[in-house]
Amino acid sequence: MRDAPVLLVVDDDPRTRGVIEGELRKRYESDYQVICAESAEDPLRLLGSLRDDRRLVSIVLAGQWMSAMPGTELLARVREFHRTAKRLLLIDWGYGPPPEPILQAIALGHIDAYVARPVTVPDERFHRAVTELLEEWARSHLPRFEAVRVVGEERSARSHEIRDLLDRNAVPFGFYPAGSERGKALLRQAGVAAPVLPVIFLFNGRVLVNPANAQIAGALGMKTTPGAGLYDVAVIGAGPAGLAAAVYGASEGLSTVVLEPEAIGGQAGTSSQIRNYLGFPDGVSGADLAVRAYTQAWNFGAEYVYGNPATGLRAQGPERVVTVGGGSEVRSRAVVVATGVSYRRLGIPSLDRLIGAGVFYGAATSEATAMKDREVFVVGGANSAGQAAVHLARYAAKVTVLVRGQSLADGMSDYLSTEIVGTPNIAVRHNVVVTGGGGTDCLESLTLQDRVSGTTETIPAAAVFVLIGAEPHTQWLPDHIARDQWGFVVTGTDLLAAGAPPQRWPLRRPPMLLESSLPGVFAAGDVRRGSVKRVASAVGEGSIAIRLIHDYLRGN
Ligand SMILES: Cc1cc2nc3c(=O)[nH]c(=O)nc-3n(C[C@H](O)[C@H](O)[C@H](O)COP(=O)(O)OP(=O)(O)OC[C@H]3O[C@@H](n4cnc5c(N)ncnc54)[C@H](O)[C@@H]3O)c2cc1C
Repeated sequence: MRDAPVLLVVDDDPRTRGVIEGELRKRYESDYQVICAESAEDPLRLLGSLRDDRRLVSIVLAGQWMSAMPGTELLARVREFHRTAKRLLLIDWGYGPPPEPILQAIALGHIDAYVARPVTVPDERFHRAVTELLEEWARSHLPRFEAVRVVGEERSARSHEIRDLLDRNAVPFGFYPAGSERGKALLRQAGVAAPVLPVIFLFNGRVLVNPANAQIAGALGMKTTPGAGLYDVAVIGAGPAGLAAAVYGASEGLSTVVLEPEAIGGQAGTSSQIRNYLGFPDGVSGADLAVRAYTQAWNFGAEYVYGNPATGLRAQGPERVVTVGGGSEVRSRAVVVATGVSYRRLGIPSLDRLIGAGVFYGAATSEATAMKDREVFVVGGANSAGQAAVHLARYAAKVTVLVRGQSLADGMSDYLSTEIVGTPNIAVRHNVVVTGGGGTDCLESLTLQDRVSGTTETIPAAAVFVLIGAEPHTQWLPDHIARDQWGFVVTGTDLLAAGAPPQRWPLRRPPMLLESSLPGVFAAGDVRRGSVKRVASAVGEGSIAIRLIHDYLRGN
């Protein structure tokens, strides 16, 4: 067990320490080494020597009430030694609501979860907390089955896109740089001479050279063209709004098809930790939430069509026909447009040339581990930028958040700005904009301008993650679906100019809540004008859209 990852328990009460040790050994000893200590044994020194011995620490479990140092204080320092270790605080049953230090530790991101010490043997509630953290930790640390192997240039935009796509679709994969021994061997074995990279090797022996998204989806057994029949509802986009519409549509007996060109989960799927979604007190990764919602809708019979975007929409009598990239069409009685938004670009050609090669739009969670020990930058002052910074800080040596405004308070939730301030390797620079930067094959530098003094400076940069707002995905919609000046779909009462329906509105009744200026076409989530840009509100709108579609189909 000398090289197995460590589960470290620090607790002063010998009786409960014994129970915890017994429980952990019983369940995990064949794969993990369980080490127990009390606070007087200097757990920080222990963490340091485990680091010096190059041991992997998966979870540190610490009792809160210890003589030498409270558990929250110890856990706050764990990542100085082991950047990716999970931190589980142990409290006592019946203690009541979490006291101040525990709330503060949660707000500052100093613990990942807290759980009551085991009282019965076995205590499945305790084990659930441990296994959930282990599962998250293992994803990036233990060898796993690779359904797909990607061989490509390490810092090419398309390689990054494919890794991101596989990651967000929860497809286990391995990436091998084309120049690495393993990469060269894979190319040789498959007899792919002088290939156009990237090359994809599937678990079933298929090899795809520089494939499009739809080819990858098809080769993985996913459906890439819709059925020819008439659906009740076509949901366009599989972010939280689209997935909610799919769950409610399919579960309420409507034949439902979902179109998604990239990955389930949409923007939420790129979020490393969503902490404000109802029912997940310790937070949930966007990818996890997406997989759960996808499975839920699938279980109810929703059909998914991957790899190609919706490219047009027209009314054909009572039918709504959506044209799909690749040449197919979806016929349906109603449509939910849930295509969300995409990131606003910096508009600096020398940086846009390096997208995927050190310049990333969005949180790019798939890239975080590659940032190990580097100095990276996050541009933006809203929640998405804050979350990206906190996530990256687990791997990078230093993260600098570049904010246009004077303070984080203008655009970021209080809990997140508190966590940023409390994370030692995150720095925040205010009143600063990126005006340039570049590199030969990958990002090497950024040019920053101080908005107050006007001075500029060029600094070395290994990577920059840009999260500066978004534009709606609505260019594919026909002109007669009304949008506001930014391109967001206008719905419901917002369509009633001076109390009257829009010009081409053909019905006697006014548009319903969430209904666009084309009857039977509804918009839900971030793409809709006036929507609250949150997961919960997107989910709410997706479900409300289905309720309204029932009324629409009944002719109300
Ligand atoms: C990094 C990050 C962190 C965030 N964290 C939080 C958080 O902690 N809490 C919170 O409440 N909110 C958070 N948000 C906001 C939240 O993710 C969004 O509000 C939410 O995802 C909106 O859902 P949606 O379904 O409307 O759109 P999206 O999630 O954007 O999904 C739209 C989907 O439509 C697809 N699509 C686009 N065009 C087409 C087309 N032509 N045809 C077919 N499909 C198309 C896209 O590929 C995408 O999958 C975060 C956002 C980001 C980026």
